[in-house]
This record gives sequence, structure tokens and C-alpha cells, in this order.
Amino acid sequence: MAIIMDGKDVASKVRSALKEEVTKLKQDGKILRFAVIMVGDNSASKIYIKNKSKACQEIGIEYEEYILDSNIEMKELLDLIEKLNNREDIHGILLQSPIPKHLDIDEAFRTIRPEKDVDGFNPVNVGKLCLGQDCFVACTPLGVMKLLEEYNIDVEGKNAVVIGRSNIVGKPMLQCLLNKNATVTICHSKTKNLLDITKEADIIVAAVGKEKFLKGDMIKEGAVVIDVGINRLEDGTICGDVDFESAKDKASYITPVPGGVGPMTVAMLMSNIVKASK
Ligand code: NAD
Repeated sequence: MAIIMDGKDVASKVRSALKEEVTKLKQDGKILRFAVIMVGDNSASKIYIKNKSKACQEIGIEYEEYILDSNIEMKELLDLIEKLNNREDIHGILLQSPIPKHLDIDEAFRTIRPEKDVDGFNPVNVGKLCLGQDCFVACTPLGVMKLLEEYNIDVEGKNAVVIGRSNIVGKPMLQCLLNKNATVTICHSKTKNLLDITKEADIIVAAVGKEKFLKGDMIKEGAVVIDVGINRLEDGTICGDVDFESAKDKASYITPVPGGVGPMTVAMLMSNIVKASK
């Protein structure tokens, strides 16, 4: 039976340490402030931004929320981003995705100033991550790396397999593991013989968006299994991309859903905001 990696607990420790840091900054007269922009009325996004505002409140970061109508034009969104870019009292800006299709999300991410881009989606930060330079790293992969570190799982020289190549999870995950000297394979919907690849992995990160996609018989004995997936089931519960029941008996370490990577993502966002304030 695998060791279950308690993301809730690690995230709570990260938040406590950040709270201390933010309190000290406050005593020195520095107030941290974070702005979130949401366009439209996506129910999952509403939950995500609520979690972010709760974490800010806990840590002592001032929080501003901008909910824009789904019919807005691109200029309105860009004007708001520029306004927040120019405000010295705002340290971090986040645009909650998805946004309506008629808007250009790439242009919006490009417009968020790299030094306020706490989600790490501006191409400057993406490029720096590829070059192995200090930058803002996307919060979910950053959370996975922190979790591995907390459990003393050294990735150097390991065969790491990332399933999923999205810009927000899969690709930055690949870079983070590579930067720590893992040998990384990235798989996606067009990958052939996935099983042959996953069976060789010492570390597997599943970011597919399909419930219980990775089964126990797809992993090797003793593998570290990280489940990024958040799939909402009809009964309202959430479930990961890993079939926890069959995987837990073969894995050496495994993250649960909920309570694994999810809380780490929010904690790392808070960490990025504190970093941005410096
Ligand atoms: P996405 O839909 O953008 O990407 C999914 C990826 O899976 C794609 O690259 C696709 O090629 C790949 N894929 C699909 N079918 C496959 C198959 N049969 N074999 C191999 N690869 C396949 O999703 P995303 O935004 O990267 O999110 C992935 C999951 O992670 C979702 O469940 C999402 O909700 C969750 N998520 C969780 C957090 C968190 O904080 N824990 C953050 C972001 C996303």
C-alpha cells in the first residue's frame, strides 16, 4: 500500500509560513495586494477564485476581484489589465481561465506584466522556465514539485512521465522535472503505446482530464503517482485522473483527489504573490 501524499497538510504548512512572512512585511509597512479577473459566469471558475480569496484572507494578502460580463470586448479586458499593471499597490494579477472564445487569452496573458504574472503564463515567464532561469512558474506544476520535495522524492535521473501537454499543466510540468534532471517523456492524445511508456515510469504525473484514466496495471511496482486531475462527477463529487483503488497497491507514493495537488496549487499561488512583492 502506497504512502498517501497529504497535499492538504503540506499546503497548510506552506500557507502558515507565508502568513508569518506577510505579517512581517506588514509590520514593515508593506501591504500585499492581489487582483483576480474573471470573465463570464463559469461555475468551476467561481469555486476556484473563492478558494484563492479564502487563502489570501488567511495569509493576510489584500484581494480584489474583477468579474467582467461575458460580452465584453478585448479592449476592455486589456484596459483593465493595463490599469492593474500600472498600480504600484498591486503585486500579482491573475486572469482566471477559461474566458469566452471571442477573446484572445494569449494576448491577455501577454499583457499581464511578467513581474506581476503570478500564474506564470506570460511567454516571458514560460521562456525563462525553459531556459532554467528564475521566473514565475505555473502554480500546479510548482505545487507538484513542492510536494515531491516535501516527501524527499528526488527526481534526478528518474524516468518521469507526464500525461497531458496543456500549457497550464503538462508543458510546465515537463520543464520543472527536466530542470531537476529527470529524464522526461510527455504523452498526449496522439501518443502510441501509452502503456509501454507508463510502465517504465518511476514518476507519473497524470493531467489528462479523464476520470480514473490511469489504472494500476498501467504503472510499475513502486512508481510515484501524482494525480493532477479534477473531474466533476454527476453526483457532485470530484475524482482524479488516476484510478486510486487499483493504483494505490502498486505505487510507492500516491496523491489523493481531493486533498492532493489541488490545495498545493492555491498554496503555490500565494507563494508566487509573496515572491512578486519582493
Ligand atoms: P487539457 O484538457 O488542457 O489537457 C489534457 C491533456 O490530456 C491534453 O494534452 C491531451 O492531449 C491529453 N490526453 C487526452 N486524452 C489522452 C489520452 N487518451 N492519452 C494520453 N493523453 C491524453 O487539461 P488540463 O488543463 O491540462 O487539465 C488536466 C486535468 O487537471 C483536468 O482534470 C483539470 O481539471 C485538472 N487541473 C487540476 C489543477 C489542480 O489544481 N489540481 C489545475 C489545473 C488543471
